[in-house]
Amino acid sequence: MKNARFFCLLLTVLFATPAAAQQSLDALVDREIAQLVSTYKMLHGAPELSHYEDKTSAYFAAQLRSFGYTVTEHVGKYDRPQFSGYGVVALLKNGAGPTVLIRTDIDALPVEEKNDVPYASKVKTKNESGQEVSVMHACGHDIHMTSMIGTAKILAALKDQWRGTLIIIGHPAEETVDGARAMLADGLYTRFPKPDFTMGLHDSADVEAGKITYTPGYAMASSTSVDVIMRGLGGHGSKPEATKDPVVLASQFVLALQTIVSRENSPLDPAVVTVGSIHGGTKRNIIPDEVVLQLTIRTYKEEVRQHIIASLERIAKGVASAAGIPEDRSPIVKVIESENAPSLYNDPQLTERIATAISKGIGSENVIKAPPLMASEDFGHLSLDHQIPSCYFWLGAIEPSRVDASKKSGKPLPSLHSSLFQPLPEPTLRTGVKAMTSAVLELMKK
Ligand SMILES: [Zn+2]
Ligand SMILES: [Zn+2]
Repeated sequence: MKNARFFCLLLTVLFATPAAAQQSLDALVDREIAQLVSTYKMLHGAPELSHYEDKTSAYFAAQLRSFGYTVTEHVGKYDRPQFSGYGVVALLKNGAGPTVLIRTDIDALPVEEKNDVPYASKVKTKNESGQEVSVMHACGHDIHMTSMIGTAKILAALKDQWRGTLIIIGHPAEETVDGARAMLADGLYTRFPKPDFTMGLHDSADVEAGKITYTPGYAMASSTSVDVIMRGLGGHGSKPEATKDPVVLASQFVLALQTIVSRENSPLDPAVVTVGSIHGGTKRNIIPDEVVLQLTIRTYKEEVRQHIIASLERIAKGVASAAGIPEDRSPIVKVIESENAPSLYNDPQLTERIATAISKGIGSENVIKAPPLMASEDFGHLSLDHQIPSCYFWLGAIEPSRVDASKKSGKPLPSLHSSLFQPLPEPTLRTGVKAMTSAVLELMKK
């Protein structure tokens, strides 16, 4: 009897050590992994476009509800009233302690899958312009959702190891970068508790499954969409003296723009100005009235972004005025606020703390610091302009032999958004669940 009591005490002490907690996490992931792989394949076969995540959000909500979370669906108000909000907010309250928000995005892309796997997506749907398009989880948001489902279930089972309020969100319309803003506009931080920390993960198309990479500080750039209408005075192609040719103006404008980053901006502040689309005219012998240009601007710092917007307005007007365009035909520069995403800043101290916690879970050789990217996403909105400390890390998703072969041959692997992007489900999900669960336990531990 005495021995039995001693044994129980020993077990309790052992279980309370970090090593035992790690063992229990490993055992729980082992128990869940087969189910998670089949959940992933099911979600992969049923992708839905941004703003139309009806069934995906309902499934995600039902899963979290079944684990004991208090779940609210249809969170999200868009500027455009034709879109419904399919955001999901799930709460698990566990006494006094920090409030931590973790997010998964839930939407897919208009891409036709070319992977030869039995669970490949065959889904076709109509996009918002009524065209038929194929749909694929080509950015791996199905990996994120499944990792989050595993994390949610395990954290509910490990309630004795943490305290505070855990918020899990299903974030719609990430690909169109308006989903986070729509959730905030619908009271994400007023109807629900405002978090002390926010975290997210994203799969990586060039890192081996089993590894995590992270970037303290600026990790992704802000993205600003700008349209410029370069207006001229059209006429006959054989009579340029009677016109003001907007094709020439647009050409000068594109070249002059190149001096913003190279001559006006500090080389220590990364920035990109890309003209991705230029359209004007209908026929060889007609000088058109206008040319429309579509631009994207990428920066880390807000002041750099503002400087670039002001410069491109100035250059557009300067080019037009040098050509003698009358004031009432001066260029129109439109910044499309609904398509903007803020930069993503990983709080350095928090990020190092999370990286250390993840290292304990998956081995420090599998947790690697990575350089920042000029790509963008709207996770940054959730930090309210860097007011809430945030950490967003990358989840390796590719079969290691494919990564090796690509490094040897120099032939790049299919990127995110490619019809051939193909995560390796089991090790990726295992690492995703362990990493996010370890990160949450670190912030909320008793
Ligand atoms: Zn994505
Ligand atoms: Zn994407």
